[in-house]
Amino acid sequence: MTLWVERTPDEVAGWNRYAGREARWQGCLTAAAILVILPLLFAGGWLVNLRASATAPIQGPGSFARRLAVALAIAVPVACVAYRFERQKELSKLSRSTVCPKCEASGKGNDGSVCSCGGSFVSLSRVKWVEGGS
Ligand SMILES: [Zn+2]
Repeated sequence: MTLWVERTPDEVAGWNRYAGREARWQGCLTAAAILVILPLLFAGGWLVNLRASATAPIQGPGSFARRLAVALAIAVPVACVAYRFERQKELSKLSRSTVCPKCEASGKGNDGSVCSCGGSFVSLSRVKWVEGGS
């Protein structure tokens, strides 16, 4: 037997911590990807010398380092913005997730609305799935 039960306040707090962690993790992944990809593009000259790079010989290490520094100076603020943006997006996605405890239909952002089965949707932050009958 399985069923959806209300979370205790402790469990709700735990879910919020979990959602915050998940959201930060998503933000970190996005920021890390930007921090890796942007400098590589810049330092490789693929973006700076888009037209010339196909044929131009690799320039000296000095110019490589300078471009890397410039790329990082650009990538870091972009990564910070992306981190916040992604974290917020993930957090709202998680907190908008709902489920109908009666028929297990899932929804988004329709907390409290009536399901077609006659039940009502509740936020996943307030209920949990329990495996019973053991
Ligand atoms: Zn339903």
